[in-house]
Amino acid sequence: MNSIQKKDKKYIWHPYTQHKFESNPIYIKNAKKASLYDYDGREILDLISSWWTTTHGHSHPTINKALSKQVRELDHVMFAGFTHSKAIELSESIVKILPKKLKKVFFSDNGSTAVEVAIKLCFQFWVNKGMKERKHFIAFDGAYHGDTLGAMSVGKGCGFFKLFKDILFSVETIPFPETWHGDNEIEKKELQSINVFKKVILKNRNKIAGIIIEPLIQGAGGIRFCRPNFIKQIVNIANENKILVIFDEVAVGFGRTGQMFACNKIKCEPDLLCLSKGLTAGYMPMAITVTSNELFNCFLSNSVDKALLHGHTFTANPLACAVAKSSLDLFESEKTLKKIESIEKNHLNFLKEILKHPKIMKPRVMGSIFGFNINKTQSIYKNKKGEFLKNFFLDAGFNIRPIGSTVYLMPPYCITKKELEKSYSVILSAIDIL
Ligand SMILES: *Cc1c(COP(=O)(O)O)cnc(C)c1O
Repeated sequence: MNSIQKKDKKYIWHPYTQHKFESNPIYIKNAKKASLYDYDGREILDLISSWWTTTHGHSHPTINKALSKQVRELDHVMFAGFTHSKAIELSESIVKILPKKLKKVFFSDNGSTAVEVAIKLCFQFWVNKGMKERKHFIAFDGAYHGDTLGAMSVGKGCGFFKLFKDILFSVETIPFPETWHGDNEIEKKELQSINVFKKVILKNRNKIAGIIIEPLIQGAGGIRFCRPNFIKQIVNIANENKILVIFDEVAVGFGRTGQMFACNKIKCEPDLLCLSKGLTAGYMPMAITVTSNELFNCFLSNSVDKALLHGHTFTANPLACAVAKSSLDLFESEKTLKKIESIEKNHLNFLKEILKHPKIMKPRVMGSIFGFNINKTQSIYKNKKGEFLKNFFLDAGFNIRPIGSTVYLMPPYCITKKELEKSYSVILSAIDIL
């Protein structure tokens, strides 16, 4: 440990870390494309895109240029009573590629705040309409929506927040019909989930404000997949019962599932959409909650009470907006969705190879994401096997962090075939000694 690293130990409290026994953090000097480099020049392949944020790769020259141009022009300006070109350009570009219903962009700072905004919007929508008894939320088992109190409340189903249950609001949870390659009970699971959803609606007639969904893939709950048509059915039932639908695409937005957004892939329209992680290509914190004109219009009134009195200090930071706009343009100019298609092909080839592997369960591939389980049931977040695997991968130069029993890859889209092949083979060697 050098003197700087000693200061890390002295001054810093890291996230999700038991400082009593966890090993010292790796001291990163720089990053390029799909790789991180430490001070000894050791390369670590960033196979989970630094917590699912990096899209085009680290330190992309085009984004770097956009950022440095912006910093010379406008660093920041408050966003109530002021506006700026980058927020406007970004909002226009995003709205153009989203489902038609989604028209208004509300900026905040991270995935959790995007979810808080969505929850407050839904709640106040019904208050503004004079139906304030519609105040309950429905969420899924295994769902994760962030670490702030409202987000933890709707994310109760993931089981991480039991400690805090006394300060969370109550939420109805319904089962998530998890599926994988070769799953032959999926119809049954979907039907059961739909039935529970209908029962919850009956029990709480006209009392439900909204339902929040991680469409197609639950992230932190264990990279769990469901089928597009299931989500479509849930949305239809919600629409029929005037329940607002929130899609939390904080993890899956910006290409992870193979299409720009999961809602494009499902071909359905939520009332609210939360985006963050990939929004700024992994460069800086920012989030948006996008919603319909119908919702927006319900906040218009001659009284200020009906307005959404919510905002964060750094709302729509121009640097972050410039980066996000540049990233969106790159999806076009670099034909990023094609790159994701070839990542998916590589994943599928590997999936075929491992189908009969005795230690690999629930193998699954969607877009740029590959995952499987090492146990039949999902185990707690930081279990022994998972920690062993994480350290094994790091020692071999790969940033792959299992979630409970799930081992997965979610690489930056610039990853090469060769790098993917190296990753598959390190996974196989790790599993062999498990
Ligand atoms: C990461 C994540 C969040 C929370 O985002 P933060 O930026 O960590 O606050 C919310 N929802 C989903 C689906 C996520 O994956």
